[in-house]
Amino acid sequence: MKRISILGSTGSIGRSTLSVVEQFPDRFTVVALAAGNNIDLLEEQVRRFSPAVVSVSGEAQAGLLKKRLGDVNVRIFSGLEGMIQVAAADDADITVSAIVGTAGLVPTMAAIRAGKQVALANKEVLVTAGELVMAESRSRGAALFPVDSEHSAIFQCLQAGASKDVRRLILTASGGPFRTYSRKDLEAVTPAQALKHPNWSMGKKITIDSATLMNKGLEVIEARWLFGIPPEKIKVLVHPQSIVHSMVEYQDGAVVAQLGMPDMKGPISYALTYPERLADVSPALDLARVGALTFEEPDTDRFPCLTYAFDALKAGGTMPAVLSAANEVAVGYFLEGKIAYGDIARVIRSTMDAHTQTPVRTVEDALRADLWARGEAERIIAECGITLHSR
Ligand code: NDP
Repeated sequence: MKRISILGSTGSIGRSTLSVVEQFPDRFTVVALAAGNNIDLLEEQVRRFSPAVVSVSGEAQAGLLKKRLGDVNVRIFSGLEGMIQVAAADDADITVSAIVGTAGLVPTMAAIRAGKQVALANKEVLVTAGELVMAESRSRGAALFPVDSEHSAIFQCLQAGASKDVRRLILTASGGPFRTYSRKDLEAVTPAQALKHPNWSMGKKITIDSATLMNKGLEVIEARWLFGIPPEKIKVLVHPQSIVHSMVEYQDGAVVAQLGMPDMKGPISYALTYPERLADVSPALDLARVGALTFEEPDTDRFPCLTYAFDALKAGGTMPAVLSAANEVAVGYFLEGKIAYGDIARVIRSTMDAHTQTPVRTVEDALRADLWARGEAERIIAECGITLHSR
């Protein structure tokens, strides 16, 4: 029986993880859950899965939850301290890191420092402080298993050969809902349109990131740290069907790919049970029914965020943290209808241009850069918001 702790249990990955647990009750038990503000769903999850420890964002929500769960034996915490309690819960074997954004960095580090295995969905953790996180995971012997479908695919493809023989990692991207839109069309798209991903059902932030290709950029940085591969050996290929989840090209020219239906339960369960594979987790793939699998180069003129991510990775130090934080701010404003789709990339570029990177030696260095970038992105939006919008 594997004991699981989940950071972000009320989100898309958190809910999919709990549905894997529900499907295999003899394999998993839930010991701790952390949510943000959705205490209605967290209450249901506590009653259904009986964790010993839970956490929510604020003290007020914790107080409310305590009242509602007065009849249940559960310890309830709040804030960063609460997330750390959940991340490093004494009896957890594995922590699922599925909070969105930099908010997940410190709790994920706490899980690693407590020697937990980590099933990592929160890519911003590796974007913001990848080198530190990987070093800590090695020194604590706390294995990191990728949950992102592309990284799970690469993790699986890497088992076909020796790492010295890898020529390239090929990350596939669906291209998002605006793959075929012209530059002009892109300026007019709304949050509602951007939230309609053609293949995947996910949280709002990653769905917008998919529509700008920033998601693929963040994944490039994630892959760089997870697999220890330099940026020039990472290629992105647009594959609109989202069936080939990613590939590894070896030096003899062989390309090993991992295929499956677009369903996060597959990569989640693999991260939880590696090297074992559970039966019938994801829907079966019927290639005859899928028909054609197509591939094309990404268009970085229309989707410049992908280039910015490569730029940030090459610049190194605090630059990826700045890219990620500026993106989080810009996506938030776009979702609120306060800036246009095209402004997301402009805010990120301007924030990066205003930053001189410094080394990331500690988590605090990364968090300071993150905080600076948030302030700078807010300033840019406040000063140029209207211009940005109408440009
Ligand atoms: P969601 O927005 O659906 O869920 C985010 C979760 O994090 C929710 O439980 C939310 O709580 C919680 N949360 C957000 N902010 C805070 C905070 N400040 N403190 C505590 N909890 C917080 O996101 P997804 O599940 O889609 O994505 C999670 C991560 O996984 C992201 O980094 C994403 O890039 C990555 N990922 C997601 C995939 C997917 O298919 N969804 C695929 C691959 C990677 P609440 O709702 O209660 O406020």
